[in-house]
Amino acid sequence: MWGGGGVCGGKVGGYNGVMKIILANPRGFCAGVNMAILTVEEALKIVGTPLYVYHEIVHNRHVVEQFVKEGVIFVDEIDEVPNNSTVIFSAHGVSPEVRDAAKGRGCTMIDATCPLVTKVHMEAIRYAKQGYKMLLVGHAGHDEVVGTVGEAPDAFTIVESPEDVEKLSFADEDKLVYLTQTTLSMDDANRIIDAIKKRFPQVKAPPSEDICYATTNRQSAVRELAPRADLCIVVGSKNSSNSVRLTEISQNSGCQAYLVDDKTELDHQWFKGVNTMLLTAGASAPEHLVREIIQELVDQYGGEVEDAHVVAEDMHFNLPRSLRQLTVLNN
Ligand code: SF4
Repeated sequence: MWGGGGVCGGKVGGYNGVMKIILANPRGFCAGVNMAILTVEEALKIVGTPLYVYHEIVHNRHVVEQFVKEGVIFVDEIDEVPNNSTVIFSAHGVSPEVRDAAKGRGCTMIDATCPLVTKVHMEAIRYAKQGYKMLLVGHAGHDEVVGTVGEAPDAFTIVESPEDVEKLSFADEDKLVYLTQTTLSMDDANRIIDAIKKRFPQVKAPPSEDICYATTNRQSAVRELAPRADLCIVVGSKNSSNSVRLTEISQNSGCQAYLVDDKTELDHQWFKGVNTMLLTAGASAPEHLVREIIQELVDQYGGEVEDAHVVAEDMHFNLPRSLRQLTVLNN
């Protein structure tokens, strides 16, 4: 049994040697995901079931499936939530339209939006009031982008690539500002922002970086460690933006990368000729899935596990006020 570090023996199935596993730090749950998951757990204790969550609480299949087993009902539209029920908004945030619709149905709302997403919403509201036209650098259709744009739909244009910037037409006198989705690749975002600045020199930057600390740190770890590895495995779901970005960053560093939900998705063909591999996890991927993959690899290939610390993290978010108020009401 793998015990959390050092050299471990194991069956070497057709593999000549002991594979080195570099474990990226930081990896996995960020403060926003932790808070959102705890919010659902606490709400289950206080309100019980049925408990409704608007959209996936975080983009991870295992997290969602576990909550479904516990009686949580995930909905894509607010009109799927019965009147006067309790509904939780996911870590990705929602538009005012969704909040109003839930209020109109008499729902008790618990807002598990990550505070770093809320910060971008607040910027959008402030700039819209000041008459700015806003460019949102992000992926159209992503829950977070839909929620942010919903704060001021007429003021936003979504920009997904430098090519999109070429198609924009704003006048020199237009007040312009750009904001970004929190989970973008820093390199991709910078390329798009550079194109925006070149085309529209008057564009204003947000007061502080919108790409969040967790995205930045997980990407920095992969950028630093991937050049040492022959293969990178990222634990995360396919619809997790920050997990997909980690695979891209590894690939851009010349290290082949695969995104897997869990150990059952590992293809042992990938490990042929691999001496050193990098293992990381997106911000919504539970650590037990990483541990199971390490155990599987140690069993198959032997494994010298190196815990590689690149950036220290110490971020914590309180549970939402709406949940704390509910706790008081139910005591
Ligand atoms: S990835 Fe960043 S913005 Fe998203 S939930 Fe985590 S801390 Fe918040």
